[in-house]
Amino acid sequence: MLAPYAANPATSLGRHHDESPSPLRNAFQRDRDRIIHSTAFRRLEYKTQVFVNHEGDLFRTRLTHSLEVAQLARGIARTLNLHEDLTEAIALAHDLGHTPFGHAGQDALNACMKDYGGFEHNLQSLRVVDKLEQRYAEFDGLNLTFELREGILKHCSIKNAKQLGDVGQRFLDKTRPSLEAQITNFADEIAYNNHDVDDGLRSGLITIEQLQSVDLFASQLDIVKENYPKLEQKRLIHETIRRMINVQVVDLCAHTAINIQENNPKNIQDIRQAPYLAGFSEQMTAKNLALKQFLRKNLYQHYKVNRMSAKAERIIRELFKVFLADIGLMPHEFQASAKDDKARAVADYIAGMTDRFAIREHRRLFAVEEYF
Ligand code: MG
Repeated sequence: MLAPYAANPATSLGRHHDESPSPLRNAFQRDRDRIIHSTAFRRLEYKTQVFVNHEGDLFRTRLTHSLEVAQLARGIARTLNLHEDLTEAIALAHDLGHTPFGHAGQDALNACMKDYGGFEHNLQSLRVVDKLEQRYAEFDGLNLTFELREGILKHCSIKNAKQLGDVGQRFLDKTRPSLEAQITNFADEIAYNNHDVDDGLRSGLITIEQLQSVDLFASQLDIVKENYPKLEQKRLIHETIRRMINVQVVDLCAHTAINIQENNPKNIQDIRQAPYLAGFSEQMTAKNLALKQFLRKNLYQHYKVNRMSAKAERIIRELFKVFLADIGLMPHEFQASAKDDKARAVADYIAGMTDRFAIREHRRLFAVEEYF
């Protein structure tokens, strides 16, 4: 039941290194399997978005986030007759290039790399699957399909796009990626907005009372309370959040289906030439924006989160400085790549660290009572 404008492994734009097809799996399934077996994927378990990993076992990590995105994206793809395997693979790979300590870590590393070409986590995800994973005999990276790599690269500066070749071209031509990539992007947004409400409430940094000002939350809370007036708080929150996710997914599917119908794409080339077809309705876009603004003000800039972020920035900054001054302090493999580009090798090493590894590495380098 694949739509004619869906991505199709049979007509994939292919891999950088030719490989004989798998007898059992289509090209996108094979991409997904390679991602799951990568080192960077396993490290997602100990990388965070908002809360630092050691703060509690109940918060989302980048691994559970990526699984939630994959689950949402597959469901949306199935509804719209798009290629589920491709959406799942993009979702599982979309955060592979993230630094330790979430956005704070990424901002700090970008600031450190200011004079050396900067650091973009999207581009780093692509770098991980194209180069940094070194597991195969015939090539560096995972040798993924064009469609998967295009889906990973959500944003890219024009300067970097010019150096990237194939997947960079659409930023110069101003064309769009596959619909599978577009909906995975929305699945990402739905996942983090809603799980951050959940984690925010669980941590006590935000409250149900504060969230009454957010329409998306308040309207679903009212429905739950009306149906279950005596519900205990934990169930009340879960019932509200699952409804929030549902209304957003339903809206996204309905509105995207309308856009598809109006544009009448015949194939994936039409999707690339058309404006963005995946999207929420105008009302849902506004509600979503209000939720994001609430989270930014009340959770991401909460003073306790700021404290974690400040610590994270300090760790990244100090690690960068000490390694750049003496690459002999890095493991051998990174010293070897430092011969080509010292700062980039340091950034690659730091970006690959998990939260806890970065904390330990910092201690090993700066605390005199630690030996190695
Ligand atoms: Mg994400």
